[in-house]
Amino acid sequence: MASKTSERQQNQKPVIIVGAGLAGLVAAFELSRRNVPTLILDQENGANLGGQAFWSLGGLFLVDSTEQRRLGIKDSRELAWQDWMGSARFDREDDEDYWPRKWARAFVDFATDEMENYVKARGLGFLFNVGWAERGDGTADGHGNSVPRFHLSWGTGPEVVRVFAEPVKEAATRGVVQFKFRHCVDELIVDESGRAVGVRGRVLEPDDSPRGVKSSRVAIDDFEMYGSSIVVASGGIGGNPEAVKAAWPAERLGGEAPKNFVIGVPHHVDGRMIGITEKGGARIVNRDRMWHYTEGLHNWDPIWPGHGIRILPAPSSLWLDATGKKLPGHLYPGSDTLATLKYICSTGYDYTWFILDQTIIAREFALSGSEQNPDITGKSVWQFLTTRVFGKKGTVPVQKFQKNGEDFVVRDTLEELVEGMNELARERDGPILEFDAIKKAVDIRDSQMDNPYSKDAQAMLIANARNYFPDKRGRVAPPHRLLDPAHGPLIAVRLNILTRKTLGGIETNLSSNAMRPDGSPFPGLYAAGEAAGFGGGGVHGYNSLEGTFLGGCIFSGRAAGRAIAEELLGKESKGHSDDYIDDMYSGTGLINDFLPATSY
Ligand SMILES: Cc1cc2nc3c(=O)[nH]c(=O)nc-3n(C[C@H](O)[C@H](O)[C@H](O)COP(=O)(O)OP(=O)(O)OC[C@H]3O[C@@H](n4cnc5c(N)ncnc54)[C@H](O)[C@@H]3O)c2cc1C
Repeated sequence: MASKTSERQQNQKPVIIVGAGLAGLVAAFELSRRNVPTLILDQENGANLGGQAFWSLGGLFLVDSTEQRRLGIKDSRELAWQDWMGSARFDREDDEDYWPRKWARAFVDFATDEMENYVKARGLGFLFNVGWAERGDGTADGHGNSVPRFHLSWGTGPEVVRVFAEPVKEAATRGVVQFKFRHCVDELIVDESGRAVGVRGRVLEPDDSPRGVKSSRVAIDDFEMYGSSIVVASGGIGGNPEAVKAAWPAERLGGEAPKNFVIGVPHHVDGRMIGITEKGGARIVNRDRMWHYTEGLHNWDPIWPGHGIRILPAPSSLWLDATGKKLPGHLYPGSDTLATLKYICSTGYDYTWFILDQTIIAREFALSGSEQNPDITGKSVWQFLTTRVFGKKGTVPVQKFQKNGEDFVVRDTLEELVEGMNELARERDGPILEFDAIKKAVDIRDSQMDNPYSKDAQAMLIANARNYFPDKRGRVAPPHRLLDPAHGPLIAVRLNILTRKTLGGIETNLSSNAMRPDGSPFPGLYAAGEAAGFGGGGVHGYNSLEGTFLGGCIFSGRAAGRAIAEELLGKESKGHSDDYIDDMYSGTGLINDFLPATSY
């Protein structure tokens, strides 16, 4: 047992947060509200503040929000919980799903009762049209969102980052928060009592690469730092295709891991810190659960290695596998990501095809990522309306992909389209498509488009989506035949598997306190965000409802910050005084790193 004096000395050290992504920033924000000294370490430079969240679309899963009610959407805690459980399908209840299930309940409550006020109080706003992601597997109690819940932040990911980064940077000007960039953590330091007390690592050489660009890993020094508590907020493994392949649940996901991926996250999402935390004595759970997308494009203008962009599809495109066969029932665009991934992997190929036309691409193609949505990121209502609602060409980034993207074929006739698809198939040693088979699939689809009713489930899905006013106005094209030249040219898109999210991770209790393999809390060690499977080591179970990742970072980062502040200060204290902060740092030589002057 540590003595009182050594406990006090320990408490006088700053809290160390590994990772300046959203989860780390939210934890720092909560700590700074009570003036708890905090040191944020990140292997990247200051231009990368906010991590993946900066690149994100900024979609948040909220339940029964003001925006939903305004649109007449009847949502509730009960419906959200039914959807969550239908998607998560927890099946390791007494073991790896013990904490994740508790986190799931707590997260649905947070998304219903608190998140809207929590983020709006920081200055975040949402677009009026709530999006409908993961529309489901066709069953009421199965996977998917029964109602639209994807609240797009006005300003996308950079705005989500800004509302937490700004107060943390302000706290840095007061000395409460210290940033240390280019500090790569390699080891946790655990004292003889079993408490996490510090980190060791390498100082990386200066690198002024712009945000998101792969940076040098050359070390120029070592470091060792001690803290009152350590928060691991280091993100997932999606930037490391080898780690993704190694963890791939082949049996559950249709056979072997795909050979080719496009990479949906920056290179720093390398997963190393999860292994380091495990080596330090924490328990990692649900490693085999992950969330990758089936609608990835090679970015024609890449920022990080293998950079892929996800299409957020709406329901009208005809979806064919690499052999030209229509995907089975209920695997429609935007409906059931993991089931589609499983089917694709079972075909033995790692790509599929969308066939669509100009009308559908203009209305239905949204690209994930802040830089792919300059209208929403730049908060331009004019650009938003003229490109998405009234435009016939799609957003400028969609037009650029259509022109420059290596996965796109744009032709006037179906014969020419199939020829172009076969050129792309050859690049991947894929099967050559037969014109007659593709024509038949297109004709069958088109036969169901002339009436507002149909016996085809995809046609019903389109009609259902258009019952939702924002989808009808701006997201789902009026039903029409693909071979109607008035809607041309025809377009085929080769869709790749895109890596993104890690659903398992460091097991934590509801205070974001990491757990040991024996089920006891690990003193001094906390984990938040993607590294912690967004809470508990796997709050999503097997499937996500979308918008739950940023929300999970906010919820688990907040839990970590609040729990640590309470451990250090008790429940009642308002926090440390400014004099305490001055005293604490005088003579330590700790100097704040350069804070990026650029916008987030
Ligand atoms: C293009 C894109 C779109 C997305 N859209 C959405 C969306 O609309 N809605 C949604 O909910 N989610 C979305 N996401 C997912 C979401 O953005 C991420 O899951 C989330 O931001 C992860 O945050 P994090 O803080 O856990 O980790 P990260 O953002 O990955 O930050 C971790 C930080 O830790 C640092 N680090 C790692 N290891 C070490 C080490 N050993 N030493 C020092 N530093 C280290 C990294 O450099 C990094 O800065 C999107 C993601 C992307 C990429």
